[in-house]
Amino acid sequence: MNKKTIRDIDVTGKKVLVRCDFNVPLDENRTITDNRRIVSALPTIQYLIEKGAKVILCSHLGRPKGEVKKEFSLDVVADELSSYLGKEVKLAEDVVGESAKTLTNQMQPGDVVLLENVRFHKEEEKNDPIFSKELASLAEIYVNDAFGTAHRAHSSTEGVSHYLPAVAGFLMEKEIDFLGGALENPAKPFIAILGGAKVSDKIGVIENLLEKVDKLIIGGGMAFTFLKAQGHKIGKSICEEDKLDLARDILKKAEEKKVEILLPVDSHVAKDYSNDAEDSIVHSKEIPDDLEGLDIGPDTIKLFEKAMEGAKTIIWNGPLGVCEFSKYEVGTREVAKAVAATGAISIVGGGDSAAAIEKLGLADKITHISTGGGASLEFLEGKKLPGVECLLDK
Ligand code: AMP
Repeated sequence: MNKKTIRDIDVTGKKVLVRCDFNVPLDENRTITDNRRIVSALPTIQYLIEKGAKVILCSHLGRPKGEVKKEFSLDVVADELSSYLGKEVKLAEDVVGESAKTLTNQMQPGDVVLLENVRFHKEEEKNDPIFSKELASLAEIYVNDAFGTAHRAHSSTEGVSHYLPAVAGFLMEKEIDFLGGALENPAKPFIAILGGAKVSDKIGVIENLLEKVDKLIIGGGMAFTFLKAQGHKIGKSICEEDKLDLARDILKKAEEKKVEILLPVDSHVAKDYSNDAEDSIVHSKEIPDDLEGLDIGPDTIKLFEKAMEGAKTIIWNGPLGVCEFSKYEVGTREVAKAVAATGAISIVGGGDSAAAIEKLGLADKITHISTGGGASLEFLEGKKLPGVECLLDK
């Protein structure tokens, strides 16, 4: 990575504002159901504590839309962080108000304060310069470690960098190194696996990856737009009619670039979009009119497994079927196992694919599981992320 990190700057005794991505999922009792984002932020926080910095953390949580709403308080994150770090993490009652100012002014080296949800201010998402300056005035150095929001230019992800020396944290560095390394200098053969509901969400990613990969495996709902574009019968399966021409263009471009595109050959179908409807396995090119493809079938799983043999780099984003339904999570599960078994450099992004890996206990067999959904997609599209661009060059 060509950006400065916390290793390149003297933080001792300094107030350091760290933007983290603590946007963790909560259940109805406000219990954190997946703390991966908190755990991923610990190396940066621990390093800063060890160096004797005064660590001021900030993040958003959910969508409070510029209003103070108790249900979006970061209190649960402060508690979780306190127990991980083995020291009290004080929660300010506000972001740039009296509480934040008082607590941050009382800090000693090694102390940690968490500001309240930055999205309690509508100025945050507008990247308002006055709010950015107020936030920056709490600290002497800015660290961006929130890869998950690096594709947004908000006050806490970009705005503050105009007022403070800005560097990357370790999580940000790791994400950019893995994703960037795979795109710029991949060990070959390089295979991408894309799934998920829609082609339209991943057009940019497909176009950019076609320049780089040897094979592109397409599953999930988006495969049906490609199958229909080839003239096949897809029944009631999800399809973006307005993207058929685009799908044809992509298929043609792949042929020109000698990139092999693999589509499902059989599909696990049902009469309705439901886990309880009558199901069967049919040929993906001949899906009867009253049936809907909800997962890849067993022959497709074998085809995709075979295609992955010998791969040296694999990027995977998006489930291969409706993984929320137990009957239709099989394709995603088997592909997760196959990716883990290849021994290739493997990079998994997107909530559903990462969840499948975690659920199967395969996380330690994957080289890098990205914490950023939207951000990792934009990075794979080859776009510049404002939360990275704003950091000091090496
Ligand atoms: P994405 O956020 O684009 O990665 O899409 C994830 C969603 O794609 C999940 O909610 C899946 O249920 C959905 N999905 C995957 N395969 C299919 C399919 N065959 N039909 C409808 N939805 C699908």
